[in-house]
Amino acid sequence: MSAEVRAVPAPSSPRWQERAACRGADPELFFPERGGSADPARRICARCPVRQPCLEYALGHGIRYGVWGGLAERDRRELRASYLTATRQQRDEAIAAAAAAGYTKAAIGARSAWRPRR
Ligand code: SF4
Repeated sequence: MSAEVRAVPAPSSPRWQERAACRGADPELFFPERGGSADPARRICARCPVRQPCLEYALGHGIRYGVWGGLAERDRRELRASYLTATRQQRDEAIAAAAAAGYTKAAIGARSAWRPRR
């Protein structure tokens, strides 16, 4: 089968980081001390063109510390459960669609982070 399995999301590319508004900024702004303000980092994030992939990266990788996508740890904690549920549902739907289209588990796995159980 030569057609691509476009419905299955490819692993996210780190290239979005090349367009990050925080490039060259003081990393300590994004990892404030306990009780410190995340507002300086949030202001940088507010003008960042890659907020969404940054936030998804942090949620998808379970990153607990720092400001990502304009959200501090506490903000992301509230989002994480719903993000994981939605992501798993999208993945399962894409895999089911690819399987219904006749793709093998190996072909689907080759185009996604999902791998068949052995
Ligand atoms: S959203 Fe904020 S932390 Fe993420 S890349 Fe942009 S500036 Fe950096």
